[in-house]
This record gives sequence, C-alpha cells and structure tokens, in this order.
Amino acid sequence: MTSERFDAVIVGAGFAGIGAAIQLKRMGYENFVILDREDDLGGTWYVNHYPGLAVDVPTTTYSYFFEPNPNWSRLFATGNEIKQYADDVADKYDVRRHMRFSTTVEGARWDEDARLWRVGLADGQTLSTQYLITATGFLSQPHVPDIPGITEFDGRIVHTTAWDDSYDPAGERIAIIGTGATAVQLIPELAKKAADLTVYQRTPIFVVPKFDLHFSERAKRLFARVPVTQRIIRAVTDSIYEWVVSVGVVHYWRTRGRFNIAAADLSKTLRWATIRDKQLRAKLTPDYDFGCKRPTFSNSYYRTFNKPHVHLQDGGIARMEADGIVANDGTKTVVDTLVLATGFDLWEANFPAIEVIGRNGRNLGKWWRDTRFQAYQGVSMPLFPNYLSLASPYAFLGLNFFNTMEYQMRHMERLLGEMKQRGATTFEVTEEANTRYLDRMTELLGESLFLNADCASARSYYFNPSGEPTLLRPMSTRKAIKEAGEFPLTDYQIN
Ligand code: NAP
Repeated sequence: MTSERFDAVIVGAGFAGIGAAIQLKRMGYENFVILDREDDLGGTWYVNHYPGLAVDVPTTTYSYFFEPNPNWSRLFATGNEIKQYADDVADKYDVRRHMRFSTTVEGARWDEDARLWRVGLADGQTLSTQYLITATGFLSQPHVPDIPGITEFDGRIVHTTAWDDSYDPAGERIAIIGTGATAVQLIPELAKKAADLTVYQRTPIFVVPKFDLHFSERAKRLFARVPVTQRIIRAVTDSIYEWVVSVGVVHYWRTRGRFNIAAADLSKTLRWATIRDKQLRAKLTPDYDFGCKRPTFSNSYYRTFNKPHVHLQDGGIARMEADGIVANDGTKTVVDTLVLATGFDLWEANFPAIEVIGRNGRNLGKWWRDTRFQAYQGVSMPLFPNYLSLASPYAFLGLNFFNTMEYQMRHMERLLGEMKQRGATTFEVTEEANTRYLDRMTELLGESLFLNADCASARSYYFNPSGEPTLLRPMSTRKAIKEAGEFPLTDYQIN
C-alpha cells in the first residue's frame, strides 16, 4: 500500500487541534498533518457566525494560558474576535502550514502488522500515521430535528451552524426552534429586524445577567506592556469560574445546592424585573434545578419577549406545512424563514465523530455503547494503541474548554516524552488503569449535581442516552493538570 506517512494525524483544526499541534511541535515533531472538513481553521468559532455570537466565559479565562491576548475588546468577546485569536495563535506557532482543509475523514483503523493507523479520507485516499489524535470537539455535529412535514416547507430553513451572512431578517416572518445558549444570543438580534418572530420553546433555559466589561485602548496597551496586569484579571476570572463549577456542580451534595438555589433566584429576579406578564414569566421558568442544563447569560433575552411582534410558543410542534408551522394546540404561524437553533447531536454522532477501529477489531463507538462511555484521563482507551481522543467521556472540566485542552497537552507531553525517551513505537492504556479511572469518576460524580439535583425534565446533553452524566471530569483544573503531569507511566503499556 502506498500512502503518505506521518508521525501524527490530528483530526480537527479548532482550538483542541491547534493545541495538540503546538504540543507536538514543542516536542520536536514536524511530520504531522491537521485535517479539517471545513475550509478554514477555528472549529466552532469558524462554523458559527450567527448574529449575536459571543463567548460567555470571560476571555481572560477563555484562552490558552501560555498565550494571553491583550487585544480582546471586552470581557465577553464576540465570535469574530475569537476566530481572529485562533488565526493569530495558529500563525504564531506556525501550525497553519500543517493544516489541510476541505478534507473529510471517514474513519481510522489500527493496522497491527504495520503498527500504524490507516486514516481513510472521503476522497478515497488513505494516510498512515504512528499517532492518531482526534480533536473533533464536543459540539460539532449539528442536530436537525425530525419534524413531520419539514421537507414540505417552501420557505428558507437555516441551522445556526450554517448562517448565511447575506441574509437580512428585515421585514421577515421568522420562526426559531430552540432556546439553548445559541438561541439566547440570536433571538434578541432577530427581534430587532424581523416583522414577526415566533420562538418555539420545548425546555426553558436559566438566564442570568451578563456583567460585561469593555477594555479601553489604554487597558489593552497596559495588558500588552505589563502582561501581569492581565494575568491578575485572569486569576480572578479563573477562580470565579472554578469556584462555580466546584460548588455548583462537582460538590453539589456537600453544599446542598445552595449556590444553585441562589443562581436560580437571580434568574427569577431577572425575569421578574424585565417581564410584567405573569403567564409569560411562568412559561419562561424552568422546572428543573439550576445547572442540570447549561445556563446562560443575557441582559436582552427575557426583555425581547415583551416586544409585541415576538411570541413564545411552548405547546410543541405538530407539523410543518408549505407556508408555516402548526403547533400542537392547532395554532398555525405563517413564516418566511425557519431558524433551527436546535444544537448538536452529541452522543449519537459525536462519540466518536469518525469511525475508529482499534486492535482486535474493537469499534470505539460500539464498545462505548455496549459497555459504558469511558476514557482513561479523558484521552485514551484500551485496545486503541497510539490514539488520543480529546473529545472523550470524562474529559471536559466544565465551562472553560481551554483548561481541558491544557491538561490534555500536558498528558501528551508526559506520554509522548516517555515514548521518545524509550525509543518506543506504541503505547496503550491498560484495562486495569482504565477501569480504575472509570470507577473513580463514577464515585466522584456521586457527589455532583447530576446525581443529586432534580434534572428529570432538563433534557440536558450532559447526560448520555443511558442517563449517565459521562461528559464531565468532576475535579478542579489544578487537580486535572497535576494528574496529567504525574499519572503512573505503568498505566500504559509502552513498547
Ligand atoms: P442546545 O443547548 O442543545 O439547545 C438546542 C435547543 O433546541 C434546545 O432548546 C432544544 O430543546 C431545542 N430542540 C432541539 N430539538 C428540538 C425539537 N425537535 N423540537 C423542539 N425543540 C428542539 O444547543 P445550542 O443552543 O446550540 O448550544 C449548544 C452549546 O454550545 C451550549 O450549551 C454551549 O455549551 C455552547 N454555546 C456557547 C455559547 C457561548 O459561549 N455563549 C453560545 C452558543 C452555544 P430541549 O432543551 O427541549 O432539548
């Protein structure tokens, strides 16, 4: 078989793929490639560009620790600034030249004889590589709901991940399905221009006020000249977010959910202060505990529903017809455009995002479903030699994706460093170490919000289809980074 041969193939050119590439370069690897199905880098921050897009983790925290950005215009920066940051980092660390865009990976299979991964591309090519790193993100496969009659609709249908920048909502009759973090940002923007906007809500979301800050030119110059000033702000925002995850999620049982009750009250106060109509307020009120489903920040979302041309429909959708939507209560709304803010198919399509076949023909997706979702230290699985899966069960530290990435980079450093030192060709996590980690995660989650709060009606993607909350790694960033630098090397078979 003739195929291009690499030391490493990274799938995904978002922040995880960029981070993995930087780590490889730090360790002296140059013969690697980053593949991405899109035609540019940035992952979610390239794909998403709907109006109102911004991050709701402070940008001082939402960035690589080793690469602070003095140029953020505000605390909660807009999508295009974050995309710019991805571009700047990729250029500064010289990883862009390793990227191949518009390249869809179909799957990867471990070749035991050659001790290589064979990576199959949609165009029929096969690449060979010693290491396979999937950096496909948690929210990369758009979910399109299966609504009866949706194919009969004559108007425009747009998913928020495929926003058409030339689309002008002015004067349009628009329906939007979904009230997740994306919809919370988009709805106020659409309402500014649309002639009529109907929001189809299935599960209300907790929204709390957003305390945003503008960084003046003077502040930016200070951050650039005296980086410690920005570091101090980061220490504050890191600590706040770390504390929120600790008391509100990881140690929920210990705190008796007090933080969550206070946060739910804050959201209630915001609704009370902005919406006079009692019935409307009740419809927008979640009936699950704060944190079961990802909450969000906005100062304009609730207020938007006061506008006379904005309607909330929470009775469910019966079907679509050529010119509109019929709700379960029989009400028909005629619309020109249907916006699907329906999120992502996390568990079915994303775990894993490509077919991965390891040793003895073990199929990763099937194995996860036949047994339990699991990954040692959120990165590796038994019978998958030389494979690091960055979007794995028990990987995500909650709220800030960059912290997750940074401990994974450290794990790479320790593991691949040992490989180099021993002149080894393969690593594989042992069954015993994997089971030990899974048992520990299961035990730690016993104290978490997910197993102690009332999440029954939340329909939260934090839970897998079996009802287990296997997304979160329930520990502090400090602990995860420490473990990534100290895990016993005997947890891997290194040959
Ligand atoms: P999401 O949170 O999964 O929300 C999808 C919405 O679509 C939900 O309201 C869901 O209702 C609804 N939906 C899906 N299928 C439906 C159907 N068949 N009928 C009716 N409603 C349906 O997705 P998202 O809003 O795109 O956000 C995903 C994640 O991206 C967020 O949780 C966050 O992590 C990230 N994000 C972050 C930011 C930020 O930093 N500011 C912004 C946007 C997104 P149910 O709840 O009933 O399922």
